[in-house]
This record gives sequence, C-alpha cells and structure tokens, in this order.
Amino acid sequence: MAEGSQDDFNSNVVSLKCIFCDDDEDVKKFTVEMLEKCREKSVVYKFRNKSTYSDIVIPDVVNENTGYHTACYKKYTAVGTKEVESAIEQQLAIESQQRHALSQSASSQQEPDNLYHLTVSHT
Ligand SMILES: [Zn+2]
Repeated sequence: MAEGSQDDFNSNVVSLKCIFCDDDEDVKKFTVEMLEKCREKSVVYKFRNKSTYSDIVIPDVVNENTGYHTACYKKYTAVGTKEVESAIEQQLAIESQQRHALSQSASSQQEPDNLYHLTVSHT
C-alpha cells in the first residue's frame, strides 16, 4: 500500500519485514521451525488483552516478506511452557463450549440447567 512505489518497481527487491515490530531493517527470514514455535506461543497472546502481540498473525508458511528480528523473536517466544499450557486449556474449553452450544441447539433434548451446573465448578 506504499504510495508511489509503482514508479520504481523492482521485482528483485522484496521487502522483508519483521512481523513483530513491522520494521524492515536487518530482518532475517523465518524458518518453518521458528514459525511453528511462534504459532505455539501465539495462543498465549490471544488471551492477553493488552498485549502488543495479540494482533500479530503468524503466517502458515515461510514467504518472501515474513521476517523477524532476533530480539523481537526472543521477546515473543519468551513465554513459559505453563503459560502456553494454560492458554491451550482455555482455548480448548472455549472450543468445547462452542461445540456444546452447537450440539445443544442441534438436539434440544437436554436441559440447559443441568449442563450449567456441570460446567460450573466451585473453587
Ligand atoms: Zn522486530
């Protein structure tokens, strides 16, 4: 979307940008392994409301403009295994709730009150 970039369009130059900070200086290209690691960690950021990283979408494949800074990558992936695990648990819970809601509307034979008591546990 850069303005006026069509005049000196050069197909040999691809702008490799850091997906974390959107800067294009000294950016390195991702490897598949690194992308996988980022995807693994990205679950945590989904549940962090005020994180600068929560809007970042980790691409599925390595492409010509998907890059990173070592510092940014380290910051992004600096999440504990436990945090990832609990985020995955939260996500699974949300998914099963959604499936629950779907199956409920599909077959409305079960009493919603019963289900409510089952899912709410006192701590
Ligand atoms: Zn960066």
